[in-house]
Amino acid sequence: MFGPPGAGKGTQAQLLAKKHSWRWLSTGQLLRDSDDPRIHAIMKSGALVSDDDMNIVVGNALAGIPSGVDVIMDGYPRIPEQAKWLIKKNKELGRRIDTVISLVVSDEETFKRLNGRGRADDTPETMNVRSKLYHQKTEPLLSLFEREGIAVVRVNGEGSVEEIYERVDRAVQSCLQK
Ligand code: ADP
Repeated sequence: MFGPPGAGKGTQAQLLAKKHSWRWLSTGQLLRDSDDPRIHAIMKSGALVSDDDMNIVVGNALAGIPSGVDVIMDGYPRIPEQAKWLIKKNKELGRRIDTVISLVVSDEETFKRLNGRGRADDTPETMNVRSKLYHQKTEPLLSLFEREGIAVVRVNGEGSVEEIYERVDRAVQSCLQK
């Protein structure tokens, strides 16, 4: 599940996970649950946690999910190095990336939403850093996936949670049927 900070990835990913009995794997949530103050300091700045730390977090999370259970990833991968690592890891685990959903939401709308959320990393400075990182580093991964032949579906992420969920689920169903 792709989308800028504030796109509603977590909300939509959890709804999908519930409906399809997939495991929701949110790197943001896993990191927020960490008891390492170093990680919390990086998150508060809006910067990305190091690849070494991410490899441990994602590696451990994936290792704990039975191979027959499908996973919806939220917040990962965010940079080409992570995408490459995931593709390699998936090969070891007998998994593959099936579909990429990209929630499309304007910067204006995401900033409005984040202002209302009030998480520790939702200050205006941090929001700017995260939004820039998304557009510069993460969004280009979508065309990388498309070049690899992975289905990327872009879904309008503005509207009510229910409206967006309907769009997301319709997009997912059409990909699952292929
Ligand atoms: P958002 O997408 O709204 O920024 P997340 O919960 O996905 O929220 O991420 C919050 C923070 O967690 C990020 O700003 C970053 O510091 C850290 N983080 C999450 N996922 C990753 C990742 N894949 N690589 C590095 N850092 C990450």
